[in-house]
Amino acid sequence: MSKYNVYFCSGCEVKFAVDQDFEDHSVVDCPLCHSDDSLTDAGEAVDVE
Ligand SMILES: [Zn+2]
Repeated sequence: MSKYNVYFCSGCEVKFAVDQDFEDHSVVDCPLCHSDDSLTDAGEAVDVE
């Protein structure tokens, strides 16, 4: 089971989850526009089994 942190890109209006174990959250960017300009931490952590 891994924990994921949810981010939201207001530019693309897309939510995506980042694995907290494997990603450096300081360099997280949007999978669509590949930018962090419009990125906000949605403040959600989800468990995926
Ligand atoms: Zn985006």
